[in-house]
Amino acid sequence: MTYIIAEPCIGVKDKACVEACPVDCIYEDDTQLYIHPEECIDCGACVDPCPVDAIFHEDELPEKWSDYLAMNSDFFEGKEGLEPARKD
Ligand code: SF4
Ligand code: SF4
Repeated sequence: MTYIIAEPCIGVKDKACVEACPVDCIYEDDTQLYIHPEECIDCGACVDPCPVDAIFHEDELPEKWSDYLAMNSDFFEGKEGLEPARKD
């Protein structure tokens, strides 16, 4: 189980979630942020701070954003050693 970042993060990327995450398991590219599915401890601390409600438990991911489950996981393929996102 993991939490997922979906479409509303695109263009926002304010990283309130990064500040809230106790295990630094949130990463980024130029488009959005992504939660590492194996590093996430399912604490839910990132959900409320997100100003655009982009973060969902995978069981509660809205159907229209179901692709984001695989997109969050695929982001980490072949990226061992990637540094987590940092709040600026
Ligand atoms: S649920 Fe907790 S561990 Fe997972 S990304 Fe959010 S704050 Fe981090
Ligand atoms: S708090 Fe929400 S909008 Fe901001 S970076 Fe995290 S997921 Fe994206």
